Amino acid sequence: MKIGLPRGVQDILPEEIPYWHLIEKTARSIFEKYNYEEIRTPIFEYTELFVKGTGETTDIVMKEMYTFTDKKGRSLTLRPEGTPGVIRAYLTNKIYTSKPVWKVYYIGPMFRYERPQAGRYRQFHQLGVEVLGRKDPYIDFEVINIAVEILKSLELENIEVEINSLGCSQCRPKYREALKSYFSKYEDLLSPIDKERLERNPLRILDSKDEKVISLKEDAPQPLDFLCEDCKKHFDKVTNYLSIANLNYKINPKLVRGLDYYTRTVFEITTTTLGAQNAVVGGGRYDNLVETYGGPQIPGLGFALGIERLILLLKQQAKLGIEKQKLLFLAIEDENYLKKAIEISQVLQKNFKVEVGPLEEPLRAQLRLADKIGADFVLIINSSLIERNFIKIRDFKSGEEKNISIDNLIETLNTML
Ligand code: ATP
Ligand code: MG
Repeated sequence: MKIGLPRGVQDILPEEIPYWHLIEKTARSIFEKYNYEEIRTPIFEYTELFVKGTGETTDIVMKEMYTFTDKKGRSLTLRPEGTPGVIRAYLTNKIYTSKPVWKVYYIGPMFRYERPQAGRYRQFHQLGVEVLGRKDPYIDFEVINIAVEILKSLELENIEVEINSLGCSQCRPKYREALKSYFSKYEDLLSPIDKERLERNPLRILDSKDEKVISLKEDAPQPLDFLCEDCKKHFDKVTNYLSIANLNYKINPKLVRGLDYYTRTVFEITTTTLGAQNAVVGGGRYDNLVETYGGPQIPGLGFALGIERLILLLKQQAKLGIEKQKLLFLAIEDENYLKKAIEISQVLQKNFKVEVGPLEEPLRAQLRLADKIGADFVLIINSSLIERNFIKIRDFKSGEEKNISIDNLIETLNTML
């Protein structure tokens, strides 16, 4: 039997890697400028971490987790998102005892059992940030701004920031009650899962992808209408900062996001290009999450960006200017020059991308390979030139040839490539 790929996962082949490097490099450099440090947390954690944090009535926890029991009977889960692990690390390492503010970023794989389709996989990659210890609205703006900055630096077009506020533990209960009484009127139309949510967490119904519920959502109460004074002020300041920075945003009163821990600001960044799977970034504030995990009362917020989705978008917009380094190919006339070839290759490979040919084979065979692998230039060591300490270089595309001195090989190549 031939063993293939499990559903929903994919190889990232060498041809794709330049896109990944470009995105990672761009994001890292922006994160560092805003004073964020990298963190790497484990791929699997105790299942409980996600049940408690992400939320037991969310789609992620109810349907999408890769959960398994290890040999000692512990329940572990491949991380479906980055935030719970970062908060756990914050608590495990008691970061709050030494740092009043902790700003970190991560890049890595996440796992969700979803129905695979373009831009939706079972293993996918996110990069994101988390900030712990700041409750001021400026930082909400900063987090949104960083995400936008990454997308703009990659020249992604048609970006739209959608923003909303979900309130806090003061005003949320009233909103929750309003939602509950609204959806209770239509209880018969709800699926078993949404019925359960009606009792435990009516907010999650707003996230339902059920056809019948989607039309009900139209007239459902909206969290903005229930905000307390402090939440209202906070929200106004965040949107005001977005305006000051000339950042295009739209208030979307129906935006709730799929995770339980959000309070106050939630946002998504979409493009008008990708169709159904159009959100490329999602994020928000979570002022109670650290406490939920048994830690001190420390506010937090963050975002996550889907890397595969971003690459799809950039490709659709033909916007990935990846520069390829020129490839040199080193060949010799015959085996007498083997030693020389190895010496020269050692120097060349400190400076350029070099493929050394099969030196024991005839020159013809070496050149055939150079052609097949798409070398840009071939350097040939032959008897008439090497006596004078020269080497031949052939431009493989134009066929043009010239002899260059080995003494200033690097300088000459530097000007040519
Ligand atoms: P969606 O509504 O598309 O399911 P989400 O709200 O579940 O997204 P988040 O959990 O906020 O997504 O994750 C942030 C980003 O990660 C998304 O905007 C998307 O770009 C990406 N993402 C989420 N799930 C997947 C997936 N299964 N495959 C690829 N990318 C994903
Ligand atoms: Mg989802």
